Amino acid sequence: MWDTKPGEADWQKLVDRILSADTILLVAHVEPDGDALGSVLALGLGLRSLGRRVVVSYPEMELVAGIPRLPRTLRWIPGQDLLVPPGEVPDDADLAISCDASSEDRVGELIGPMRSAGVLAVLDHHPSYTGFGDLSLVDPDAPAAAVLVLELLDLLGVELTREIAECIYAGVSTDTGSFRFGSTTAETHELAARLHRAGIAHDRISAELYDTRSLAEQRLLGLTLLRAMLETVELDSGGSLRFVWSHVTAADRGELGLGTESAEPLIGVLRRTMEADMAAVIKEQTEGDWRVSLRSRGGMDVGSLAFELGGGGHRLAAGYPAHGALVDVVAGLRAALTRRRTDDVPH
Ligand code: 5GP
Ligand code: MN
Repeated sequence: MWDTKPGEADWQKLVDRILSADTILLVAHVEPDGDALGSVLALGLGLRSLGRRVVVSYPEMELVAGIPRLPRTLRWIPGQDLLVPPGEVPDDADLAISCDASSEDRVGELIGPMRSAGVLAVLDHHPSYTGFGDLSLVDPDAPAAAVLVLELLDLLGVELTREIAECIYAGVSTDTGSFRFGSTTAETHELAARLHRAGIAHDRISAELYDTRSLAEQRLLGLTLLRAMLETVELDSGGSLRFVWSHVTAADRGELGLGTESAEPLIGVLRRTMEADMAAVIKEQTEGDWRVSLRSRGGMDVGSLAFELGGGGHRLAAGYPAHGALVDVVAGLRAALTRRRTDDVPH
């Protein structure tokens, strides 16, 4: 687990690299969330204001009529003109910076151009960070990667415009669960106050992020919750398996005309179940290819569980990829949990 916080000298190294770079490549992780996208776009807008040539990308970018198709909750985000599909990213950038990606597999096909750039820097806040960068600005105590981005922009003397502030807000708000999670501190609220002063439309942003769902998305939520509560609930108060889980297949989404991102909010609803130590949503991306989201209610460390299963994340929110039949994915999770629970789960 990564526990080396960046010091002044580490930040200065990155600042020097930025100031001497002409072309800078910024990369977010696959299926970017508010923090990944908010971080790269805030940084991209800031570096562009300093006259750098900035290219922003993320793996497996889906294009519709040549325009990146962002998750619906993030379609309002500023700076989208900076986005370039992975295939069009230059392989001779002077500097590459990844944001919110804890391991190489999270940047997918972009690892090529990132490795061929002069230097590879990593801005991240996952304790499961693998150390894949030449320069690591990784602080597991930061509530969001976007907080580190703002720190960097301040060091560079970039003006906090409303657009940049809105991108940062997307990152901090989503990764703290709207300032509810334990990672939120007085400094986080002070940072939010600064973003408010920069003119962000926080009510509109929150409505887009949390309170806008299509009927089809509401149906998917209903289906998933019903499955968890009536069919696949795995709560056993006697003690062997205190987790609640559900799944979403590609066919479920297909019938409702929904993309993979529509399954992202489901875990937040399942994790409310107070009798469970852990919640899991097993999401089929394409046939037989799954992503598992894990959330803890505090008693257990799902970050290390996900790491053991080939993924990563934080103590209370983590995930991993899985392949094969659903029953085997569930069995793999159950086996790992059973090995674990005696150490982690208080009774
Ligand atoms: P989510 O369940 O929202 O996809 O992810 C929760 C947290 O776990 C996020 O911080 C995310 O970056 C991390 N995470 C999810 N899946 C993976 C994975 O496959 N590998 C790693 N390293 N981190 C993951
Ligand atoms: Mn993050």
